[in-house]
Amino acid sequence: MFQREIFILAHNLGDRSFYSKYETVEKNQWRPYDERKIQQEKQLRCLIAYSFNQVPYYRSLFKELALRPEDIKTIEDLEKLPVLTKEIIRANWDALKPANLSSMAYSSRATGGSTGTPMKYRLSSHDRFLGGALLYRGWGFGGYDLGDKMVFLAGSSLGVKTQHPIVTKVHELVRNVRKFSSYEMGEAEMQQLAGLLTSFRPLFVRGYPSALHLFSQWVDQNDVPIPFPEAVFTSAEPLFPHMRKSIGDVFNCEVFNTYGLHDGGVSAYECPEHAGLHIDTERSILEVVDQDHRQLVEGEGTILATSLYNYAMPFIRFSTDDEGTLIDAECACGRHSKQLNGVLGRTADILVTPEGKNIHGWFFNHLFYASGHGIKEYQVTQTAIDQLVIKLVLDESFDGTNLETIKKSIAAKSAGWNVQFKEVDTINRTRAGKFKFIVNDMVSNAR
Ligand SMILES: [Zn+2]
Repeated sequence: MFQREIFILAHNLGDRSFYSKYETVEKNQWRPYDERKIQQEKQLRCLIAYSFNQVPYYRSLFKELALRPEDIKTIEDLEKLPVLTKEIIRANWDALKPANLSSMAYSSRATGGSTGTPMKYRLSSHDRFLGGALLYRGWGFGGYDLGDKMVFLAGSSLGVKTQHPIVTKVHELVRNVRKFSSYEMGEAEMQQLAGLLTSFRPLFVRGYPSALHLFSQWVDQNDVPIPFPEAVFTSAEPLFPHMRKSIGDVFNCEVFNTYGLHDGGVSAYECPEHAGLHIDTERSILEVVDQDHRQLVEGEGTILATSLYNYAMPFIRFSTDDEGTLIDAECACGRHSKQLNGVLGRTADILVTPEGKNIHGWFFNHLFYASGHGIKEYQVTQTAIDQLVIKLVLDESFDGTNLETIKKSIAAKSAGWNVQFKEVDTINRTRAGKFKFIVNDMVSNAR
């Protein structure tokens, strides 16, 4: 009954201005895009001046490029600056430390590191709580209000199994959530999760799409009754159309895709129109760029993140390694931000053929799932330019002749690929518990 008040109180203990942040961003969502952009650029100028004055790495960068802080006034001006990569951060760790760091409240973190080594970074408390306010506003697009009951089905990137069990319990109680690990999803875990949904009866379910998809297949095959939530939110992995459909059918509700990173502070949330994900403007600037790092007005490219408030570690034009499609059209919901569309996959999800063609992970997704070949899960690993290893988890309906069709379709993409198929019982998740459809050893080894 008082769950909303407890939720707000708990957050305000961490950051006294949490609730006012939430109220501000709630109102902000209906403001015209131009007004929101003016606000972003005001913060950008503050960030640039701060970085120049306090962060040795940026001071030398500006000198090297013969730029003054006043040269970066608008989002378009960001093109004058190079992209910040994980490699640059590792190589310049000390130079990226602000001179006034000791005066700030921040936490030290590391990325999940699904490919290559994890990257260390700092996150200011103000920025983290602003990210929280945006997360709750984004869930609000699907009907969520602060303190509503929610079940998480995920790994460490959504905070599952990262803390002491007592801390987790308190966290669950004050936030009215229950966290369920997606590391292992066998028969016993499926039953436990169905039991949790039945006893806790969440209004919302949030999780990795691959885990929610596996669970919905299990519910469907075993005809297990589960209570229906109002909406399901997916995050941290690509949400493919066949997953959205099966999750939506089994949970009997709409599925909302979400996108967000603490390293770089970008986030975007799907609204009930399901035409794309509205890009948040309050915490960061999100650019979609081409291969030469030029800003796109529309279309597919790499996502760059500039975090406007993370003064403990300014990320300016940070390359997220995520691919997205920018759409610049008015949404019927009345929110005026730009939107991201597409699967929002990693750039490593692209495979290269010996003939020099790029083949997107989407191709395999269509191949293995769209035509119902009796394949529960797959993972394609490119071990060399001409070598693919494809692991398959099959169900009873798999028909061996389908494999011939699959082989022909792959050969049509590249005659030079030698493909080895391996039937397996399960496919391992990454350390953060995420599922990867495509593993490109050639990219990960290069990092
Ligand atoms: Zn909308």
